[in-house]
Amino acid sequence: MTDTSTGTSSGTSSGTTTATAAVAGHPEAPRRHQVVVIGSGFGGLFGTKALKGSDVDVTMIARTTHHLFQPLLYQVATGILSEGEIAPPTREVLARQKNASVLLGEVTAIDMDAQTVTSQVLGRENVTPYDSLIVAAGSSQSYFGNDHFAEFAPGMKSIDDALELRGRIFGAFELAELAALQGRSTDHLLTFVVVGAGPTGVEMAGQIAELSRRTLKRDFRAISSRDARVVLIDAAGQVLPPFGAKLGQKTKRELEKLGVEVILGAMVTDVDERGITLKYKDDRTERIESVTKMWAAGVQANALTKTLAEQTGAPLDRAGRIAVNPDLTLPGHPEVFVVGDMINLDHLPGVAQVAIQGAKYAADAIDRRLEGKPPQKPFKYFDKGSMATISRFRAVALIGRFRLTGFIAWLMWLVVHLFYVTGFKNRVTAVLHWAVSFVGRGRSERTATEQQIFGRLAMGRLDRGAQELISPPEVEDLLETTRAFEARRQELEAIAREEARLTDSGERGVRHEAEV
Ligand SMILES: Cc1cc2nc3c(=O)[nH]c(=O)nc-3n(C[C@H](O)[C@H](O)[C@H](O)COP(=O)(O)OP(=O)(O)OC[C@H]3O[C@@H](n4cnc5c(N)ncnc54)[C@H](O)[C@@H]3O)c2cc1C
Repeated sequence: MTDTSTGTSSGTSSGTTTATAAVAGHPEAPRRHQVVVIGSGFGGLFGTKALKGSDVDVTMIARTTHHLFQPLLYQVATGILSEGEIAPPTREVLARQKNASVLLGEVTAIDMDAQTVTSQVLGRENVTPYDSLIVAAGSSQSYFGNDHFAEFAPGMKSIDDALELRGRIFGAFELAELAALQGRSTDHLLTFVVVGAGPTGVEMAGQIAELSRRTLKRDFRAISSRDARVVLIDAAGQVLPPFGAKLGQKTKRELEKLGVEVILGAMVTDVDERGITLKYKDDRTERIESVTKMWAAGVQANALTKTLAEQTGAPLDRAGRIAVNPDLTLPGHPEVFVVGDMINLDHLPGVAQVAIQGAKYAADAIDRRLEGKPPQKPFKYFDKGSMATISRFRAVALIGRFRLTGFIAWLMWLVVHLFYVTGFKNRVTAVLHWAVSFVGRGRSERTATEQQIFGRLAMGRLDRGAQELISPPEVEDLLETTRAFEARRQELEAIAREEARLTDSGERGVRHEAEV
């Protein structure tokens, strides 16, 4: 357990004090305070960087070798940016930070008594001791208990997802051209369905509409790409709930002007190779034939919150997020900080700034303890605003009490995203690619390989084996599933209403006295 006033450790794995313990392999070298950071996303990277001048050694453990700028994944999927521009190698980003090292590995266990993190890569296991731990492992896509939908409707959480979607979107137009030449129907090939009308869904739907109406309009001979049907579906009653009711309505109108069909209050009850089935509040069902579907409907906190909850008693919410203390630590473990998408605190949203500010706060807390300074005040999130693009030159922005739409909002989006893209060379090439797509009508990154499109499906099938693919569900299971869908639809509707209310009433990030 860590002595929080000095930050030194008396745990078995960490020696007795930071000053006298030895570094592995260098028995006589004094051992510095060891900070382990899990994740190389917004929380992980910014937390590590914030410890640059500190008297600590930082080990960042992550399951990818890159830092991922998730807000621009949709531009990789729609051929505007290359994957390298939004995913620089973490090792390169941290090359000049002498007190930081990077370890590739999927964290499989955290032992809070022994103060160790166990990670694995290709069957090789590694155990890393820590004095302080920052957990920033983010979240994953949630299919609300219907993980089999993932096979036909990929999510948008990783570079793999974005490249697979790129291949599916551009590939659908190619197959439609072929079908038209052979006199076969093209409707299911030229229908694109996006599930989830949050920022990612809105951005994807807007971009696919723009692709079909603008970028590809001269590229095909047998089909008119402009005839493509783009459908955006959500179980909730509004678009963009976290942006409040008014901006949600404006965004819906803008999308419809672009040619996007927006279907609200409809729950997706089935997804297969050729389409998607919806169920409305009044029990009506609808089938949309569509080869290309994408899922942007829900998130689930990283499963590591389970082990943290089991070891500390901190409760998890329905999305698997863990309740943290006001200083982002866990009950009984002041040496463990959890930040970003994994936490449940003050209704904070799952956005990059929550992770960045939380990680900087944790780094500062570690520093202060080592320097013997009194602890900081509880973590307070400073909301710098939210933005989402709808199409070229059109966006919505919510900054404090200001609600902006149109070109000004888009310009703000451009400047902010350019500022946060990591690395000078990535900023330069992103500007060039944006000029190609927004001033011109081209897309510089339309290439996709067969492996990118089919690799995930092949691996998934190998993993599950054939049995699961051929056993149909029992009738009783189907009835149960229908009830579960309706309950889930009502729940999603209520969550969206509450999200919009929190934004409109300014209650997000506000801590009530009783909660402190
Ligand atoms: C498509 C999309 C668009 C978005 N757009 C916006 C936006 O416009 N504005 C905004 O503010 N936010 C946006 N967000 C949300 C924002 O990206 C997240 O809130 C933010 O990334 C959270 O940061 P984090 O550090 O908690 O997690 P992440 O940035 O997701 O990082 C998690 C890290 O942990 C690693 N990891 C996970 N599990 C393990 C494990 N077991 N072992 C080792 N490493 C692990 C991952 O590889 C990753 O490096 C968007 C998200 C998505 C998916």
